[in-house]
Amino acid sequence: MRSLRAFYVLCVGLILIGCNLMAPATFPTAEPTTFRLITEIPNATITPTAFRPSAGTKIPTLPIIPTPTSTPSPPTETSIPLTGSPPTAASKDDSRNLDEASPQYELVAELDYASHTLDVDETITYTNQTGGPLNSLVLNVEANRWGNCFNLKGIMLNGVPATQTLSGARMEIPLGVSLEPDEAIILEITYSLNIPPKQYEEVFGYVGYQTNLVNWYPFVAPYNNQRGWILHEPSGVGEHLVYDASDFDVRLKVKGDEDLIVAASAEGKTEGNWTRYELKGARTFALSISPIFHSQTEANQQASVTSFYFQNYENAGKGILEAASDAIEIYSDRFAPYPYESLSIVQTQLADGMEYDGLIFMGSKFYDEYNGTIKNNLISIGVHEVSHQWWFGMVGNDQALEPWLDEAMALYSERIYYEVTYPFPVNWWWRFRVTWFSPSGWVDTTIYDGYGFRGYTNSVYLRGAQFLEAIRFRIGEKAFNAFLKDFATTHAQKHATTDSFFETLDRNTDKNYTDIVDDYFNRR
Ligand SMILES: [Zn+2]
Repeated sequence: MRSLRAFYVLCVGLILIGCNLMAPATFPTAEPTTFRLITEIPNATITPTAFRPSAGTKIPTLPIIPTPTSTPSPPTETSIPLTGSPPTAASKDDSRNLDEASPQYELVAELDYASHTLDVDETITYTNQTGGPLNSLVLNVEANRWGNCFNLKGIMLNGVPATQTLSGARMEIPLGVSLEPDEAIILEITYSLNIPPKQYEEVFGYVGYQTNLVNWYPFVAPYNNQRGWILHEPSGVGEHLVYDASDFDVRLKVKGDEDLIVAASAEGKTEGNWTRYELKGARTFALSISPIFHSQTEANQQASVTSFYFQNYENAGKGILEAASDAIEIYSDRFAPYPYESLSIVQTQLADGMEYDGLIFMGSKFYDEYNGTIKNNLISIGVHEVSHQWWFGMVGNDQALEPWLDEAMALYSERIYYEVTYPFPVNWWWRFRVTWFSPSGWVDTTIYDGYGFRGYTNSVYLRGAQFLEAIRFRIGEKAFNAFLKDFATTHAQKHATTDSFFETLDRNTDKNYTDIVDDYFNRR
């Protein structure tokens, strides 16, 4: 009866708000967490590319700070303090709690901002959680995809020099002995990076006024008992990296002539000349450094949110700050509590937004387009990246082979933001972000299926959002909300799969939805 009444109320609501068959109904399931009076700009237009600026778009012009030409100083290995206690082999008897069983990364990094070099001492404590013995470790060294970027200086395994082979991003380190289940090994890697000039489509690298460090340290690839080490190659679209949830303890020293401002995946604490950052249960640790960042911070019940933006972008920087802060509260209520203590929102030269744990990058183009309302790419893509803190950060997945698991969820999370945020422009959102593109394709498309950017995003993101909407209609509001919470908490710090998605769904509904799956999925 309860669901029938809900359906009746929904139908009346639909009639009252007018019928647009293309635009799905709104679900005002919760009181808006904020009530901001925002003036809508009536002539705001739909951009043909909700994710990327159209061809011919000018590269955002930002002030270029000339970097002093200086010759890189010789490697200063001895100036980098080694942290932590001397490495010792852990034994089976080591009583480790669940958190400590995940990979532990200690990174001591010294950035020479002007010469674009980074010296790093990395210590990884890796506990074998695969259930079987391991004879080697496979690490992902993304920095080695750039020419003349990654310079390895030494590797030690439990305090003993080790050998390795490095090909592309794949580094394999024979262990010499068998690492049994629940045994831990300590890996110390000393290396430096020649940070490359940043290309527009890439996050990693430097421009004259900003250095972005993402995937800047080797990390142990996830291991799957059926498929072995998970280390994918990039394709022209989407993201290829898969990460285990890990704990990070990062110490950073930045050398530069100017006052350099650091945006990071966590809030830093000053320790002498160093800044220390700790982040637990995360996939990644990202940094962005600039002498010309402006910033504003807003704290809510869940997190301290800081928006880092450039001069003359104050309105947009504040707009995305407020939306991200609201989104964190909304998603904490609808999915699970925000998994970290802070979030940095970082303006950069990029055609899109890009998520890392505790830090999201947003393309300058979106700041240029910002119209003072919540109806624009800066806000819709901004809250999308915020939702990746749950669908990517908290709940991991294979971004290359099952990208819909984070991207369809993140796109649909935009809808959830708009349905509870005044003025509830959900119909606008469906047109602006989804139906305008008349999407087709299979939700379970991989990044290797060769559909190109538009075909890929239409299939995975847009059809993915339509699939989730259809499921929501079919199973009802109560079951859908329970499913969202269940999916988040069941997979927290783990990897979700298409199978585990449907197992979670089946736990929360008795309704038959196989016809919907047939409509949207190719391989299932
Ligand atoms: Zn996304």
